[in-house]
Amino acid sequence: MNTSCYRGRLAPSPTGLLHLGHARTFWTAQQRADATGGILVLRNEDLDPARSRQEFVHAMIDDLRWFGFRWREGPDCGGPFGPYSQSRRSAIYRAGFDALRLAGAVYPCYCSRQDILRALQAPHSGEDEPVYPGTCRTPTTPANRHSPHPSWRFRVTDGEVVEFVDGFFGPQRFVAGQDFGDFVVWRHDQVPSYQLAVVLDDLAMCITEVVRGADLLVSTARQLLLYRALAASPPAFFHCPLVTGGNGARLAKRDHGTGLRQLAQQGLRPETIRRQWPALVLTEAVK
Ligand code: GLU
Repeated sequence: MNTSCYRGRLAPSPTGLLHLGHARTFWTAQQRADATGGILVLRNEDLDPARSRQEFVHAMIDDLRWFGFRWREGPDCGGPFGPYSQSRRSAIYRAGFDALRLAGAVYPCYCSRQDILRALQAPHSGEDEPVYPGTCRTPTTPANRHSPHPSWRFRVTDGEVVEFVDGFFGPQRFVAGQDFGDFVVWRHDQVPSYQLAVVLDDLAMCITEVVRGADLLVSTARQLLLYRALAASPPAFFHCPLVTGGNGARLAKRDHGTGLRQLAQQGLRPETIRRQWPALVLTEAVK
């Protein structure tokens, strides 16, 4: 099959119902795929067993269809790079993690911190983990080493500048050790973190451009370091301005009144919603 064409992805997490913020970003992904005759992949990011629910998987597929999204590969229709649900891709994650271990890019961490618990979720606005103080970086650091199942962190080089050109926001610059620190790639309960899973999936599914919200720009810097450690070429990145509610904050799944199914129940048509969106995305050439 031809994987040299544009391959984008929609990557919702089934932890709640989709709202206008998701639709806005995903519609950009759809437009960018359409502009080049490329395709979209739907990936069900049900990495977090504690927060993902099957009813939300069904709802997200129904709501995306209602809105007019068209994906060529996904959990409902299969495709050459399946499975398309993260909960079923553990062998791929294990192999990627083993490659990082072999490369000496990760170290065991015995700290029991909130960010290890949260590592399965993409860190959206206000949720980014604090810079890790490096407690377990060197084996000589006294720490609790009793657990046979540590978490594993990717070691960053403090002061290293990570730069990339975003398709929408232009040149980006982040400093390792300041904007982000050593981050969790593998949890003590043998589940990969969001950062690692998304990189391994985008690679394995031959994604050529990642379209997602602007609050993940700093995650892109982390992910670029993972691509390098895995000796792999990253896709292009296109981050979208976040949709905010009346209070100026990013829309969240808990915000009422913006859910796609609520809007459908109120009789709103997707075309009407889309007409209100400025055409921000097609001002940039699709690579
Ligand atoms: N599942 C992630 C989320 O819903 C996707 C983030 C990404 O596109 O990398 O936030």
